Parts: sequence; C-alpha cells; structure tokens
Amino acid sequence: MRQVELPIYPVVYPTGHRLNQNESQFPLPDRIKNQLDSLTYDDLHEYPVEPINELFEQYAAYVGVTPEQLLVGCGSDEMIHVVTQALLAPHDIVLSPAPDFSMYPIFTTIAHGHHVQAVDLSYEGMVKAIETHHPKLLLLSNPNNPTGKLWTVEELTHLASLVPYIVVDEAYMDFTPDASMIPFIATYSNLIVLRTMSKAFGLANVRIGFMVTNCELAHYFRQFIPPFNISGVSAKICNIFLKDATYLQETIEWHDEMRQKWAQAFETIGHVIPATTNFLYVELEQPEAVWDHLTDLNVHTSKQPTGIRVTIGDEAALHLAHTAIQQYMETSHVKNS
Ligand code: PMP
Repeated sequence: MRQVELPIYPVVYPTGHRLNQNESQFPLPDRIKNQLDSLTYDDLHEYPVEPINELFEQYAAYVGVTPEQLLVGCGSDEMIHVVTQALLAPHDIVLSPAPDFSMYPIFTTIAHGHHVQAVDLSYEGMVKAIETHHPKLLLLSNPNNPTGKLWTVEELTHLASLVPYIVVDEAYMDFTPDASMIPFIATYSNLIVLRTMSKAFGLANVRIGFMVTNCELAHYFRQFIPPFNISGVSAKICNIFLKDATYLQETIEWHDEMRQKWAQAFETIGHVIPATTNFLYVELEQPEAVWDHLTDLNVHTSKQPTGIRVTIGDEAALHLAHTAIQQYMETSHVKNS
C-alpha cells in the first residue's frame, strides 16, 4: 500500500442548511420537470451510446467547439482525475494559487505528483512560483473557488506560455461565459479547460463534467477514460437542459439578483469580494469563530483562512446565517473588517 492520508468523500454530509456546497437553488421550471417525467425505464439494460453522442453534439455547440475536442466524465472531478493521471510522472510538480479548489492537491497526490501553492492569488505570485518550482502543470479555477476572483485572459495566456500544461477549471464560468478561455484553445496547444453541469445548470446530482481542449490532447486523454464512465440517464437529463432555449439565461438572471441582494446584506458584517458565481466570499475578522457559531446552529458554510464562503440561493438559510453572524458580532464585539 502507498503511504497516503487523503480525505474520504463525503467527509461529513451535514444535515441542516447546506450553504457550503455551491449547489444551485434555482427552482426548476415546470416545463423542464415535465420533460424529465418523460424519461422511461426501457433502456436501463443497455450500455449508453446515443444519449452520450447527443450530449457531445449539444455541449460542443454550447461552448463553440467540435465534439472531438470534448471529454465527458463523472463531474469535472473525474476530469481533474484524468488530467493528472494522464500528464504526471512520479514527483512532477503541479502548481495552484492560494487559495484554490481543495481537490487539486488530492488528485495530484493520487497521480503520484507533488502539489505546491503560490503564496497568494496574484499573477505576480504565480510567476514567481513558476520560477521557483518549474511545475509541469498549472491547475487553477477561474472564477476562483473559494473567492470568486476572475483571472484575466491576458494573465492566463501569459501563464500558459510559461509552463508545459495549464488547466483552467471553469466550473463557475457559465455565469460569465465571455471570460472563458475556450476561444484560446486554438492558439495555446497546452491549454485544457474544464467545465461542469453541476453549478449554473444546477445538476450536481447528475454528475456530468467536461474537458475541452484541442483534438490532439483530447485524443490522448481519451485513453485514460474507463468505458461507459457516465450514465446514459445522466446524458439524457443534460440533453433536456441543453436543448431548452431559455433555462440557462433564467438561472443566470436569478443568480445575478440573488448575488446582488445578498452581497449587499453581507457587506454589513464583512467585506464581500465581488463575484459572478453562485457563492459569495465574506471576509471576516474571526472566520473560524463565526464558522463554528454557524455550524452549531446547523448552518453549514465553507471555512476559509480569511472568511467564509456562502452559497447563495436558499434565502431562509441565508437569513438565518446573516442574523446569526450579526448577533454573534454584537455579543463578541467582533469589528467589521
Ligand atoms: N472545480 C471546482 C472549482 C469546483 O468548485 C467543483 C465543485 N465544488 C468542482 C470542480 C467539481 O464539480 P463537479 O465534479 O460536480 O463537476
């Protein structure tokens, strides 16, 4: 056995209010529910082919590439798994900014690589870390999870020119598609973009994620995918959502309103980092104590070094969180940051 100590997921599956998982709370329109009702049991006995081909066609059209440039997996998590397995030799270095998505070091370790982090989320910090560590792969989320920071195209294209491979994980990019790196895949032959149906499309339980890259890399990575790695039922569900003419725009607008409203509310208790995601990062003076207090009340948020990350959408839970933090600050004399 290897000497590893990795978290086993789900680490804790909290009961209560889940503001910690960035799950969509957008209410499903009836027209979509009606279509989902039309799924039948007839083809459960078959390995899936047609619905997945259709998914490739539809998703390729949605992001503006050819189906040959896509890989699909069990969430974008599987795509991170595949990309690290396929690219890393033992001890190869993977670099991410700090903070970034918690799964990057885990998948790097599984792939026998070594994960390092830059000192912060700055472009300069990344360039310096590249000079120090000479990573084989840059792995970062854009928008950044947990802060919501958007890297610019200029920063990312320059970073791409400094390393053998760069993976830009665009899990939250459907909210701001104009900032995507997908149009630059044709120019940067080492660029790999990850996307998911879990966030803006609201389908975390359907477990569908994508890799988007050039045909040559896509062909290489395809060798590392197990046969029939996604369910045809999941593909059919995604096809319904992708075919709907207005669903995505509706959920984007709903999230824009929610974000604006709750950013304003949380500004009264901490500094809210501007974001275009389905979560907010609230910087606080005593994040750990506030997080503990909310957890005691069964309101689960994501604990971060300088604040908490809160999923937006469940207004009852957000009210509870907001009031609880306010009361906590009044009693513990925590000052606004
Ligand atoms: N990347 C980022 C940045 C995420 O925040 C998440 C989920 N929280 C994922 C990837 C994985 O999402 P999924 O496997 O559901 O596509």
